[in-house]
Amino acid sequence: MTDQPRMPIESGVPDHFQYMHPLLMKNYGHWAWHDRPRPGVLHHVAHSGDEVWTVKAGTQRQLDVGTIRKLCDIADQYAEGHVRFTIRSNIEFMVSNAKKVKPLIEALTKEGFPVGGTGNSVTMIAHTQGWLHCDIPASDASGVVKSLMDELHDEFVNEDMPNRVHITTSCCQINCGGQGDIAINIQHTKPPKINHDLVANVCERPSVVARCPVAAIRPAMVNGKPSLEVDEKKCICCGACFPPCPPMQINDPDHSKLAIWVGGKNSNARSKPMFHKLVAAGIPNNPPRWPEVATIVKKILRVYKQDAKDWERVGDWVERIGWPRFFELTELPFTKFHIDNWRGARVSLNASTHIRF
Ligand code: SF4
Ligand code: SF4
Repeated sequence: MTDQPRMPIESGVPDHFQYMHPLLMKNYGHWAWHDRPRPGVLHHVAHSGDEVWTVKAGTQRQLDVGTIRKLCDIADQYAEGHVRFTIRSNIEFMVSNAKKVKPLIEALTKEGFPVGGTGNSVTMIAHTQGWLHCDIPASDASGVVKSLMDELHDEFVNEDMPNRVHITTSCCQINCGGQGDIAINIQHTKPPKINHDLVANVCERPSVVARCPVAAIRPAMVNGKPSLEVDEKKCICCGACFPPCPPMQINDPDHSKLAIWVGGKNSNARSKPMFHKLVAAGIPNNPPRWPEVATIVKKILRVYKQDAKDWERVGDWVERIGWPRFFELTELPFTKFHIDNWRGARVSLNASTHIRF
């Protein structure tokens, strides 16, 4: 034992330079130009004349130790021992010689890791954390993403969409749900079911009341015990009360559904960033393959590919042809629930901790 005090373990993002491919480090910030020799391969040329080829591959998202070892073995044998993960959890291998690209692609393909996801492809779906890391998911996210990407394999390995397509999934609708050209989000459709025996022991009732965005929760005495009640006419089934109060169960195998939103984008290239809009709701949450979702997503992609002009993102395309034409082409039913321009949101949603009853 030493006399040194026990120091806190610092966690957080480590310095990435220590893991960087030496050529990337040497030429950091000094790249002259780049191109894409084929789908899944980027080629960067530095002002110094150095060249780097990056091979991008898709994985099954949540990686077991065996798969990580396999990927590392491929990096050691066919690349130059360095990898990096992209924000969409693709894995990239860097090599300094064009001759190494083909054997690397062959090794990855043989082991079942498709090479693609660059340029005008459908790149890997960005997903939220699901069962593994979160307390409120209504579905797994990573598992169904893998299943959905199995269906979109050709769109991933080829670059034949009008522009890049970013798809996102989200296992609840209130927290880390993403914007995307196509976004697939869970929606609860029934108010929470309250287990009144547990509320007093488990929940801090004022915090739960304050959490509701439409002030639908009130303190109540039920069977002589302090509990809560929900005004079901006001409840918008958002699920925000469940994390601070698990006895307010809102997940339901039949009533937690999926919705698909279209036309969002974060980038401001060529047009402004856009919010996505609801195009399909009430789709069964049917893991692990989500066949009903896959059918609709593939239909939207097929129509987008046929009808959009070169370089139009999904949102740009819909803006040009108009929403009525979008519903006509995709044969998705249009209902009154699709019309929400958020004009009333300022008064109907609770934007502060001030409660309005
Ligand atoms: S989307 Fe919701 S359930 Fe999924 S990880 Fe984020 S907060 Fe958790
Ligand atoms: S927090 Fe959401 S789900 Fe819970 S009662 Fe309020 S509106 Fe309904």
